[in-house]
Amino acid sequence: MTFFESSQWDGLVYSGGWTKSDGGSQPVMEPATGGTIGSFGVALASDVAKAAEQAKGAQLKWQATSFEEKAAIFRKAGSLIEEHADVAMHWLIREAGSGQGKAGFEAHLVAGEFYSAAAMAEAPYGQLLRTGKPRLSFARRLPAGTVGVISPFNFPQILSSRSVAPALAAGNAVILKPDPRTAVSGGLFLAALLEEAGLPEGLFHVLPGGAEAGQALIEEPSVRVISFTGSTGAGRAVGEAAARHLKRAHLELGGNSALIVLDDVDLDAAASAGAWGSFLHQGQICMTTGRHIVHESIYSEYIDRLAEKAEKLPVGNPATSDVPLGPVINAAQRDKIHGLVRGSVDAGARLAAGGTYEELFYRPTVLADSELNHPGFAEEIFGPVAPVMKFSSVEEAVHIATASDYGLSLGILTTDAMKGLAVADRIPSGIVHINDQTVDDESVAPFGGVGFSGTGARFGGAEANLEAFTETQWVTMQGEIARYPF
Ligand code: NAD
Repeated sequence: MTFFESSQWDGLVYSGGWTKSDGGSQPVMEPATGGTIGSFGVALASDVAKAAEQAKGAQLKWQATSFEEKAAIFRKAGSLIEEHADVAMHWLIREAGSGQGKAGFEAHLVAGEFYSAAAMAEAPYGQLLRTGKPRLSFARRLPAGTVGVISPFNFPQILSSRSVAPALAAGNAVILKPDPRTAVSGGLFLAALLEEAGLPEGLFHVLPGGAEAGQALIEEPSVRVISFTGSTGAGRAVGEAAARHLKRAHLELGGNSALIVLDDVDLDAAASAGAWGSFLHQGQICMTTGRHIVHESIYSEYIDRLAEKAEKLPVGNPATSDVPLGPVINAAQRDKIHGLVRGSVDAGARLAAGGTYEELFYRPTVLADSELNHPGFAEEIFGPVAPVMKFSSVEEAVHIATASDYGLSLGILTTDAMKGLAVADRIPSGIVHINDQTVDDESVAPFGGVGFSGTGARFGGAEANLEAFTETQWVTMQGEIARYPF
């Protein structure tokens, strides 16, 4: 059986089946070659309104569907993505510029999301409460209704499915607006997967589009919860619009995550972890190690080893060779990266490796002698760049690490794990890894940031997902009508 043939979806959106949208269609671009590899339907506000109408009816039926039936669909979706991992990876590689390892890891994570959703559909969904009256009192979690999901380009499949799967498992309908740069791997592929798994028609809609379609989703009255993953700037606009419409918005935003390297580490392992944290997927990860904060006694040696790794890393077209690093997503992103690198060098940073590019292939770059006010150290780069700054005391390392508005992930490398945890206690961050770099994700672990990295929303784990995608209802029941004095 062939799966996800382009004849099924080319030029279309998924909304009550495969259909044309009011916004026409747009080409799917391949960043590595600049070529066109298909087309997808573009959604306008009118498409969002039609989808929302269908979703309302489908959601009511889905809410009443047995948990066994729901769980079976998610188990099937999980096994389908394992069966068709090659197709998932094909699109992640060609449309998103993912290296083969990253694409395989992402497809594996997506399968995990659907298996976790199956478990969530079967899990308890409320609490029995104590009450002073002769009655039963309990709190139950009910579906919010229709959930709007807005996702970014960098890990398009996992960042869509980590909201889509639990929102559906909680009994909601979902309208997904993937980024138009990854409409296929972050949207249409998931539609085909869930359709094949037996999800009822009209319950899940995929409407690729830009900010306008995203705003229409937020304004649509029947969409009660928004799950947004993207930049801090866009997240602020989403949060403001959601607040105006009195809706809950879960915001997972940008980062500039710190890796603190204490003086007692194995330098080879530390430099390897640092290179992985900064260069994986060309640094286009929210949790990317954006700041290396290294003890002065090992600083020069660390820079040398990191720069050597950067220089040796092959960069190329991941569709034609098994290179670890592919292209960045587009020219605008490349120019932003290069501007921050040049700005840092102009401010006094030393280019220990990289700093050059060909077309969309940006060389892994090490910015030594970074300072707090260098743009590449202070801002999220979202590119394969490792800015490094030295410290002389733990106090100073904590000061540097906390001098950022972001708070997504934090890595601390040391042979003394308890000392690492004590340092972590002093730095606000949604995620901490002692003796690892900053990039990691597991479907069962709570994921989210603080400060400019998000509103403390948490993905991962049945409890967090239930909190995110349901409303709590307090219910009391007694055998007779309560008696009152008047
Ligand atoms: P982006 O904010 O430009 O776009 C993300 C999504 O939001 C896209 O679907 C886009 O079309 C949509 N969008 C943009 N403006 C909007 C608006 N005003 N209203 C509604 N929707 C709007 O982000 P990007 O450049 O695609 O992704 C990179 C950013 O995402 C980085 O900052 C990165 O750190 C962040 N990110 C965060 C996480 C996380 O979990 N915290 C994960 C991945 C990426």
